[in-house]
Amino acid sequence: MSKQLITKFNSIKEWKDYCFSTHKLYLKNPHFKKWINKKEIYIFNLSNLKKDSIKYIKSGLEDAIKLAKLHFKVFYGDIDNFKKIMNSGNKKIDSTNLLKAVIEERNKNHKEHASIFVFNKPIKSQDSVIKDGEALTYVSEGITAFSFSAFKDYPPSFLMRRGKHEALHLLGLNSHHEDTKVKGYKHNVPCNMNYNAPTKYLCSKCRDALVYFWIGVEYAAENK
Ligand SMILES: [Zn+2]
Ligand SMILES: [Zn+2]
Repeated sequence: MSKQLITKFNSIKEWKDYCFSTHKLYLKNPHFKKWINKKEIYIFNLSNLKKDSIKYIKSGLEDAIKLAKLHFKVFYGDIDNFKKIMNSGNKKIDSTNLLKAVIEERNKNHKEHASIFVFNKPIKSQDSVIKDGEALTYVSEGITAFSFSAFKDYPPSFLMRRGKHEALHLLGLNSHHEDTKVKGYKHNVPCNMNYNAPTKYLCSKCRDALVYFWIGVEYAAENK
C-alpha cells in the first residue's frame, strides 16, 4: 500500500474550525442544498440481499443520522426506474450512467432526496472498481452506491458497520480517521471511519468533525 498523506492539526479548535468550513464546495452544488433540505434518504435494493440484510445497512445509516442529530427519514425506494442500469448487460455498473439515471429520476418525480443503491455488480468509477462490500459516495449529489458479492453471506455486524461508515461519508464526513492527526484527540483508537470500518464506534475526533460540518451548513443557511 502506498504511504498516505496525513494532515495535522495543532488543536481541537483548529480541527473544529476546519470542519465548520468544509461545506463551502458542497453548497455550490444545487443538488446538495435540495437533498439536505428534503431530509429524506431512499434505499434502492438492486441486489440479491434479503430484506433483513438491508435492514442492517439501514440501521447503520440511522445510527449515523442520530450521531449528527439530523432529522433525516429513511425509506425504501421504487427500483423500477433503475432496472435499466442493472439489466444493461454490462458486467460492471458505470458510475456515470448511475449518476445520470438518478438525476433523471429526480427530475421526473420533482423530488431531490438522497439515494443509496445496493448492487451485486462491481461499480466502475473514474479511477477504481468498487466491489465486495465497498461503496462509492457523491456527497454533493447525495448518492451512495454499495457493491456486494452475490455469492457471499455478509454478517449483520459487517453490514451495519459498512452502512454507518458510508452514511457518515454521505453526511459530509469526507476524510477517513487515518487521514488526519489532531492534537488533543487519541489517534490510535478503533473508529468506524477507519478505512475498513472495523467497529461501529465513532471516535470523538470524527464525531466532532461531523457535528461541526453541520453547524457550518446551518450557519451558512442562516447567513446567506
Ligand atoms: Zn475517528
Ligand atoms: Zn470510507
